[in-house]
Parts: sequence; C-alpha cells; structure tokens
Amino acid sequence: MKIITVIGARPQFIKAAALSREFAKHKEIQEVIVHTGQHFDANMSDVFFDEMEIPKPTYNLEINSLSHGAMTGRMIEGIEEVLLKEKPDLLLVYGDTNSTIAGALAAKKLHIKVAHVEAGLRSFNMEMPEEVNRILTDRISEFLFCPTQSAIDNLEKEGYNNIDCEIIRTGDVMQDAALFYAQKSEEKSTVISEIGLEKFALATLHRAENTDSKERMTQLVNGLNEIHETICPVVLPIHPRTKAKLELHGLELKVKLIPPVGYFDMLELLKNCSLVMTDSGGLQKEAFFFQKNCVTMRDQTEWVELIDNKVNVLVGADKNLLIDSAKEMLKQSSDFNINLYGNGKASSAIVNTILAENSKII
Ligand code: UDP
Repeated sequence: MKIITVIGARPQFIKAAALSREFAKHKEIQEVIVHTGQHFDANMSDVFFDEMEIPKPTYNLEINSLSHGAMTGRMIEGIEEVLLKEKPDLLLVYGDTNSTIAGALAAKKLHIKVAHVEAGLRSFNMEMPEEVNRILTDRISEFLFCPTQSAIDNLEKEGYNNIDCEIIRTGDVMQDAALFYAQKSEEKSTVISEIGLEKFALATLHRAENTDSKERMTQLVNGLNEIHETICPVVLPIHPRTKAKLELHGLELKVKLIPPVGYFDMLELLKNCSLVMTDSGGLQKEAFFFQKNCVTMRDQTEWVELIDNKVNVLVGADKNLLIDSAKEMLKQSSDFNINLYGNGKASSAIVNTILAENSKII
C-alpha cells in the first residue's frame, strides 16, 4: 500500500520521525514523503531529518513565507499534482498547520482517504489559525488518530459518532519520539556544557497569537526578562518569527537567547532544566514526559489533562501572573506518575489500524 505523508513544520518532522520508523518495519507499506517547505531553515528543518534519520522527502514544494491564503492555496495545488502522479491509497497528515489542511483537502477532493494524527484536539479559540486547521482536517479525515481521552470526548461532543470515520485512541506519537531519541541525545548533544548553567528555566515563544500582538509580547518579554534577572536564568531557543517580531515591536529579550536547536539538544535541555515556560503545544507535553512543571503563556491549551493534573498552569500574556507562576512552579513538587499519553506505542497502534483497514479493502 502506498501512503503519502505531508509534512512542513518542525513539530511535524518530530512526529513523522516516530511514525516513519514504524512504517519502515512493514515491507507492504511504501511511504512517500512530501515536504511542503513551510519551515525551510537548516535549523528548523534539515537538522531533524539528519539527526532523527527521517527518510528524505521525495518531493519538496518549497512553499513558504506567504500569507495564510496564498500558502495554503499553493500547497493544495502542489500536493494535488503529486497525488495525481503517485496515486496513493492513503494520505497522512499531522497536527494543525497549513500543510495539514492543504494535504487533507487536496486528497479529499480526489477521493483519497485521509488519516489525521493528533485528531480531536481543541483549544476552543477560533482566532488561532491552528484551531481552524485542525477542525477542518478532522471533518474530512477517514482515520482520526487521537492522542488523548479528551480528544475523543471532543469529537463525540461534535457528533462524530454519526460521521463515517474511524476514531481511535492511540496515545501520542511525540511520546514515542521522546522515549526513543532520549536514549541517543546525551551522547550526541553538547548543549548543556555550551550554555554553562547549573540551573535554568527553558522557554520558547513563537505562537502568532503572542508574537503578532505588541501588547502581549511586551507583557511576556518583560516577564521573562524579570524572571531571568531575579529568579532563575532563562534559556530561550529563538524561533525566526519571534526574532523578526521583536524587532518589529521594538522589544528586547534579555535572557540567554540561543538559535533554534535540533531535537537532541532540545531533549537535553528538557532533561536538565528546572522549569518549562512556553506557548508551544509540543513542549507542554515534553515537559511532562521529562517530569518538569510547565507555565504556559497562552489563554487556552489543547492539552487540558496537564492542567487538570496541576503540572501545567495557563498564564495568558499577563506579566505578573507569569512571574508569580514561575516562582510557584519552581518550588512545586508534582506527581508525574500518571499515564496521560500512552506508553510510547502510538506509532505501532496507528500502523496496525491502517494495515487492518487496508486488508479489508483488498
Ligand atoms: N523544538 C526543537 N527545537 C527548538 C524548539 C522546539 O526541537 O528550538 C521542538 C520541541 O521539542 C517540540 C517541537 O519542536 O518537539 C515543538 O514545535 P513548535 O513549538 O515549533 O510547535 P508546536 O508544538 O507549538 O506546534
């Protein structure tokens, strides 16, 4: 069976690394990877393919740095051409980016089945481009692979029980990746000796809802600067979008800024930090995998089970709440002995479902 995987952004490379390793174990599956080009810098793309040994994409559409409409439109066009040529049995997409919705839409219009990994997640904030992408992708997918029980519950509430699709709770492929690559990262990464800090908080900040707003950015930048100066050093691998927006808003992050890091470095930063502060979806869960408390600089999160279990707090873009929560979470000893995201076998659950379904068709 031929599967086309469409990826384009950093978190998708990490998720694809886990699943592509599983596909490779099955001779009856041929995976063809299409990179839309959404993330293209060496440290936002190539490093992941190299370190995580993700198969090289057969196609790179090189579509990036455009408005949402132009980017998504061109991606649909490019992916459609690939689909017409390759004639796959299934198209697989991850998460919630423009590459996700473009892949799903191109396939659906050609009557090719769609599998969505990370289905059912909701932030309930329709202003976020990610929320629009994930809702639309879910609706046109045949296979909805859900990482959590709350994702299943969301789909049930939206009436998916009456829609012709398969909803499967698989656990989270990011946990598969974290478990597998954490065994290799210590040997390969030198980031901890390079930053030379005994104790530090790890931060990332890149979501459009924060970076696009000068008001939100000012609060968060001032909060992080104060935490760095008075509470605990902050190490922040800076996303290219954030760098550009800081300049635009005339703001300065006075923390330990480093360029975006590869996954091995990220895993070592996660293992060695005392706290995570982020607006990333993926990093909130990775904090949990490595038993670190997390302060989330957003108004909502899709990963509600982390909030329910008190290992993560939402602080929005409120400077004082960010500082107070960082202080609290640095002190708090949490119970991480709970299974929220499966047992690191999400990829094999996904592949087994696809194979079982395919055998029914043949
Ligand atoms: N990540 C990384 N290097 C960095 C920043 C993030 O490897 O400098 C990883 C991070 O560990 C996680 C993924 O990228 O696995 C998250 O991606 P991002 O925050 O860009 O997107 P989101 O998860 O918010 O969709």
